[in-house]
Amino acid sequence: MFDLAIHGKAYVGALAERWVFIKDGRIAKVSREPVGRSAATLELGRGQFLIPAATDLHVHLRDWSQSEKETVETGTKSAVAGGVTTVAEMPNTIPKLDTAELVERRANLLRDRSFADFAIHAAAPGETSEIPKMKKAGAFGLKLYPPDLHRFRTVLRSAEVSGLKVAVHAEEDGLLTLGDFDRAESVAVMKILDQVGPRSRVRFAHLSTCEAAQAVLASKRSHKGLEIEVAPHHLFMDERAASARLGAAARVNPRLRSRANSIAMRRLLEDGRFDFYATDHAPHTTDEKLTKGAPGFPGLEFALPLLLTKTRNLALVCRMYCEAPASYLGAKKGRIAPGYAADLVVMARRRWKIDPERFITKARVTPFAGEQMHYAVDHVFLRGSTAYHDGKFHRHPALLVT
Ligand SMILES: [Zn+2]
Repeated sequence: MFDLAIHGKAYVGALAERWVFIKDGRIAKVSREPVGRSAATLELGRGQFLIPAATDLHVHLRDWSQSEKETVETGTKSAVAGGVTTVAEMPNTIPKLDTAELVERRANLLRDRSFADFAIHAAAPGETSEIPKMKKAGAFGLKLYPPDLHRFRTVLRSAEVSGLKVAVHAEEDGLLTLGDFDRAESVAVMKILDQVGPRSRVRFAHLSTCEAAQAVLASKRSHKGLEIEVAPHHLFMDERAASARLGAAARVNPRLRSRANSIAMRRLLEDGRFDFYATDHAPHTTDEKLTKGAPGFPGLEFALPLLLTKTRNLALVCRMYCEAPASYLGAKKGRIAPGYAADLVVMARRRWKIDPERFITKARVTPFAGEQMHYAVDHVFLRGSTAYHDGKFHRHPALLVT
């Protein structure tokens, strides 16, 4: 007896009519015909289709002393409402996660409050001897920021020895200080490429310029462990359009770029050259955005419909936002296939507009406000149980992915 059967169009390499049978939180069987009995059956309606839930490798959930911006609860509800059931958090919380003890405290908070499964990037610690302890405390990776890049090689080596993956915000700190935002990314990327070995595993977070992306792509031919993560705002928004809508509140790090750059980035995206799509969900209060130009936007709630609306390429969406990021974390998620976690999303072909006033995240400022979506998230399952449906959330034990 299965726990649940879902019948209708499902993404199994292509959209096809299937029965998806779920047992004990996993996909037990995927077949063309119904087989065996199940305790419940969900028949998908017209225009609905089933895809794997997304994994977002780049989120900031704030909480602690920044609860006015976002909490683990509001941030992960926002994720689940957007079809994202696993989030990898960044360590620039206050305090930042630069000790094993803080990583453990963060894991405990997430375990208690998160509506999604989670993974933790630790920050580069003062002493590299802390790195193996961070791994034991629950971190799966390290995130390096521009001020850390002068010791990139040392930290990378310690992370590799400890089995932690490295993600890097590649912008040259000195050039950022001088306001040379255009060159900061490609200069930092070139310096990093000079320091990686043929087997180094380095993920370039939110790569924003075509020039830097081309440099990494060229290196990838001989360095298979290099991976590129791209964010929705660098692909589908540009500096001029965002400034017209938001003025100084259009700020994000790395900066939004020219329209020509985002067109070139989209071409690379559509050619399948990027590895991961991740929001860089970075919530701030409206006041901080408008008066202080705090950098970052929320994204979790609409990133999946946005990518599908803009590309109309389900294979690309499922690879870059579901299968590849889950596989990066070592989680058996992101595919509709036997043995995979039953983290699933019922999507629907339905038009709606992004309306920040209706957001679940506390952050309200996004350049995508008013943007027309052609797809919506109807029902989200975490390990076979409903996590979000009809505007209601259901919390299940949140698992730490290491
Ligand atoms: Zn970030």
